[in-house]
Parts: sequence; structure tokens; C-alpha cells
Amino acid sequence: MDLQQKLRIMSRLANFERDGEFNFESCIYEASTPKGKVPILKLMQTTMCDKNCIYCAFRRDREGVPRLFLQPEEIARGFMELYNRGRVKGLFLSSGIFGSAEFTMEKLIDTAKILRDKYGFKGYIHLKLMPGASTQSVEEAVKVANRVSINLETSKEERLKNIAKGKSILKDMLPKIELVDRLIRGQRGKSQITQMMVGVGDEKDEEIIKAVDFLNKRYRMSRVYFSAFFPIKNTPLEDKPPENPIREHRLYQVDFLIREYGFSYEDFKPILMNGNLPLDKDPKELWFLAHPELFPVELNTADYELLIRVPGIGKETAKEIIRRRKVKRLTQPEDLNGIRNLKKILKYTTLNGKHFNLP
Ligand code: SF4
Repeated sequence: MDLQQKLRIMSRLANFERDGEFNFESCIYEASTPKGKVPILKLMQTTMCDKNCIYCAFRRDREGVPRLFLQPEEIARGFMELYNRGRVKGLFLSSGIFGSAEFTMEKLIDTAKILRDKYGFKGYIHLKLMPGASTQSVEEAVKVANRVSINLETSKEERLKNIAKGKSILKDMLPKIELVDRLIRGQRGKSQITQMMVGVGDEKDEEIIKAVDFLNKRYRMSRVYFSAFFPIKNTPLEDKPPENPIREHRLYQVDFLIREYGFSYEDFKPILMNGNLPLDKDPKELWFLAHPELFPVELNTADYELLIRVPGIGKETAKEIIRRRKVKRLTQPEDLNGIRNLKKILKYTTLNGKHFNLP
């Protein structure tokens, strides 16, 4: 089997073996960054795994999974071929745990080191940290990668035990997240993220939002990723229905509001229904509707912190409104020409004391 064939299979497996045609290019995904979409090569070092997480396509007991192992040099060479053709800008390298967490970490780090030292690659490398990896491995990974991630998978220790025996949030993952936070503090171009699954158990949004609030405030995560549960054939959860992707979307909105807009768990508490976010409305809009005392917000006088809490007003729009009102008092919708979401904004605000509703 040549490298391209191996990569194709790895890519397919990395995409949870959903139906559909894959080719070599399907190893590439478009990552969202503050500078826009960036093509990243996403691979697993190995599809072998000694663990048996019940939701995972690569779990030890799952039959029919091609078990592959890509040598560090193979990945580095394959990546550089794509990079030199302008097809990718960075690498996201994950892995099953083969042999031991340390052995696996060693291979991931070796791959990154070959890219840095042999091929002189200075761009983006994201390494997944294996559960159970040593402090030394974490330190080495942080040195060689731009971003590292430790997937919490869920929000509570007891839940994790039910779905991923042998993993521990309290004894292993959180201490590692704390260590990475210390190591990257003050270093430009270094970051950490984590991921949680949604709908794999009966967890409520309430506990996920609490965890996200804690992670963002305590460790300044660059981002918490969510992954709506999707059943995989030949796993113990194959008959469990998939989670509604809108739930994932709502949690992304919450994470964004906590990181960027100063929201906290307490803000979302009043809008939860039976512990979950309603799916049919934006959480920011629901928060605003839960505060009738703020309605309507006068756009000529509201401070920046209040403006960015108005549905439809983002940070840039708030700055633009403040800039315009310094030039002249805002009295009619035309004074806000060119502002995004104007219809929505006017629903919750006044201009010089007057409320406008655009058709
Ligand atoms: S350790 Fe990772 S790759 Fe292995 S079974 Fe668990 S989730 Fe899957």
C-alpha cells in the first residue's frame, strides 16, 4: 500500500466513516480562523487504539477498521508535498493510543520535529495530547506545536467514566490543561483548545455551559469545540439517535458570547428550559428578551457594554454606532445606513427616544 492509499484511508477514518466518496484531497479541511478559512491537513498517526471509548470509530473492539500506522517521516513527506503545491497551510495531527500514551506522543512529536527541523516548516501545527501523556511529553509538544488540544469529551468525571473507561478529567485532563496554560502564557502564536461531545449521554446544556465558562475564564481557552453525537456502526452506541446539530450550533454561540462578549453561565441560567438551551432562538436574543428592564436601548446614549448585548449588534457595529453618534445625534434609521442587521437592531432600540420598526 503506497502513502497516498494509506492517507486516503486515514482521512476516511478520521471522518468517522460516513458514507460518501473520499479521495486524497478529503484529508484537507477548511479551518475557520480570525483571518478566514485556511486549508489544513487532518490526519491520524495511527488508527490503532488500545482504548475502547464507546462512541469512537477507532475503539479497540470495533471490527472492520483498517488499522494503520503512519511513520513520522511518511506524514512529514506527505504533508510537505501538499504544502509545496499550495494545497495546505497547516497540519492537525491526532492519533489513537497505540502501545502507550508516551509511545504515541513520541510519534506525534517526532512528526512535528521532522517538519520543523528537516523540512524547515514554520507554519501551523496542531497536536492532540494523548490522555495519560507525561509532563515531559506535554512540554515537548507545546514547544514544537502552535496549538495543542486535550479533548475533555464531556463535562463531568462520572460521565466520562461511562463512555471512556480509563480517562479522567480530574486526575489527567484538567491538570494537563492547567500545565499547558502555564506553558503558553505570554507566548505569541501558541494556544490550546478542547472538545466536548454533545448528546452522547444525557448531559444537559446547563452543565456544558458551566464547564465552558470555567474553562474560558480559568484557562483562557482559544476555543471549546463541540461535536454533536453521530452513531457509528459496530459500536455500542450504533442505535442511539444522532444529536440535533442545532444544539451544537447553540453551544458554539454560547462559547463565543462567553469568550468575546463577557457573558457568563449566570447570564444563560434564566433562559434554559429543563436545563437546555431552546433550539429555536439565538441565546443572545433570548438573554435580551429575559431582561425587559433594558428594553428599549437608546442608541445615542447606551455604553459599549450594553450595545454589544443588543441582538444584532456585534463589536464592530457597536463601535460604528458610537463613531456615528459622535458626529451627529442619531434620529432616524437612515442615520444607520449600511449597518448590518438593522431591522433586528431597531426592534430592540430607540433613536432619539423614538422606536422604529422596519418592514
Ligand atoms: S482513546 Fe481516542 S482513538 Fe482511542 S478509542 Fe478513545 S476516543 Fe477513540
